Amino acid sequence: MSDASTPALLGQRPALQTLSTNSAPWDAIVIGGGITGAGILLECARRGLKVLLVEQKDYSWGTSSRSSKMVHGGLRYIAQGEVALTRHALQERERLLTELPDLVVRMPYIFPIRQGRFPGRLPMTIVLKLYDALAGIRDHRWMSRGELLQAYPDLYAEGLRGAMRYTDALTDDCRLVMRVLQEAVLEGAKARNYTEVMGIQPSATGSTLTLRDTDTGAVIELQAKQVFNATGSWADRLSGAPAVVRPQRGTHLFVSKLRLPMRDCLTIKHPTDGRPVFIFPWKGQTCIGTTDLDHKGGLNQEPHCTQAEIDYLLTVVNSEMPSIRLTRQDILSTMAGVRPIISSGKGNDPSKERRDHLVWQAHGVTSVSGGKLTTFRQIALDALKTASVIGKTRHRHALMSRKKRCFNHTVISPHGLNSPVEGMAQGAALKDQIEWILRNEMVEHLDDLMLRRLRAGVLLADAGESLLNEIEPLCQLHLGWDSARWKVECLRYRHVIAQSYRLG
Ligand SMILES: Cc1cc2nc3c(=O)[nH]c(=O)nc-3n(C[C@H](O)[C@H](O)[C@H](O)COP(=O)(O)OP(=O)(O)OC[C@H]3O[C@@H](n4cnc5c(N)ncnc54)[C@H](O)[C@@H]3O)c2cc1C
Repeated sequence: MSDASTPALLGQRPALQTLSTNSAPWDAIVIGGGITGAGILLECARRGLKVLLVEQKDYSWGTSSRSSKMVHGGLRYIAQGEVALTRHALQERERLLTELPDLVVRMPYIFPIRQGRFPGRLPMTIVLKLYDALAGIRDHRWMSRGELLQAYPDLYAEGLRGAMRYTDALTDDCRLVMRVLQEAVLEGAKARNYTEVMGIQPSATGSTLTLRDTDTGAVIELQAKQVFNATGSWADRLSGAPAVVRPQRGTHLFVSKLRLPMRDCLTIKHPTDGRPVFIFPWKGQTCIGTTDLDHKGGLNQEPHCTQAEIDYLLTVVNSEMPSIRLTRQDILSTMAGVRPIISSGKGNDPSKERRDHLVWQAHGVTSVSGGKLTTFRQIALDALKTASVIGKTRHRHALMSRKKRCFNHTVISPHGLNSPVEGMAQGAALKDQIEWILRNEMVEHLDDLMLRRLRAGVLLADAGESLLNEIEPLCQLHLGWDSARWKVECLRYRHVIAQSYRLG
């Protein structure tokens, strides 16, 4: 597919010195290239601000490539009484389904109901009526026991009464971040990955930021009138205020769809703690997740899961579908992410902490953390209001208006929710996809391409090793990598995969 008609997208990484604006300050600098930073970048650019986003690693390297990929209101949040959070999220879900139909797709969710277990059919029906009403749709129904067992014959049949079927949506979180960044760039914003903010000092014009190119070590100082600290789990480091973030790790397992075939997202209550765990089809394989634990590890290393987390997730499958007998050997890959949770300070059970976001200000820095992938637009608008970039009325109007689109530009790219699992079968399509990414998505390292842009590292049994021969000449052509660079990149990629995405 051609992208000749598409105006300048992210493209290649600009030289560090080009970020200097000859003593004129940036209107705003956004720190953090996850979904929150991307959303703020877009909303600033749309209002005509001269705005730059910097990310210390790769775009979406933090939590925003490691979520459960659900664009949803969150049924459990409504059950916890968080109606406003759920309503906003559902409105955003509907908006994204309409505006990005290639990237955000409606997905049936199935919640089996068992004799004597809470919740039963009646409470689930009441909750789903409200859930659908908040979204402005009616898309739930009862599935009989026979219909359920026909669709999922491996389900443990004893005590099974049937299931509630409803719909939510799935996406590829990394691709969603890239799409928001591309939209922002088309609105005039700039962005640079592998650029860390080392410090922020108040200055006459607002703030002076010290930035470091994490690949070369080069340092530069930039002036900005506004600073948005959208660094998620890292937010306390730059906020200049007392700590509020409680980092919590969630892990997913990927298994072959041949071993655990799924057409819908099955929601199972874990037999030991009653937490809902999802088993769902994702880009040609099956994903199981998630866990929810305090994360004690360093934030700058790739998070990885523990044996206890793997056992926890295998248990949920094997207790609900005992004949499947899923084992460690069936696991293609694991993916752990660290959720930025705004701490209640009460030391609650990690699953019980609230999931909404917080915006706060100190020393001229507007910080934002927490929330959801789904609500990135609302989070961005709240941050802009707190920083007085928009007033209360414009904020309310932008939030409520169903007419205003989030995505006004067309980005002609050959992917959406395409997967290398299917792409392997259509070699030419996958090559087109890779070339488009290399030209337009600021790939700096092989793991950017393999783990985030393509997802080959998590979806393919060999982590995409069999594709590397084909990819090397493309990186040479589009990124100018010689064979020495290629070898370094392959070593780096294999190290990341072995350390954090594969069982030892
Ligand atoms: C297991 C799990 C499952 C989830 N499932 C869902 C779901 O299904 N649906 C949903 O809506 N939400 C979900 N979430 C929540 C959602 O993923 C997060 O709320 C969201 O991704 C947070 O985005 P963010 O941009 O705030 O943070 P991040 O994506 O972490 O981005 C912050 C970025 O800041 C960068 N950074 C840090 N310090 C610096 C610095 N000094 N200089 C430059 N850059 C810096 C980091 O490298 C990082 O990339 C889930 C979260 C987890 C962990």
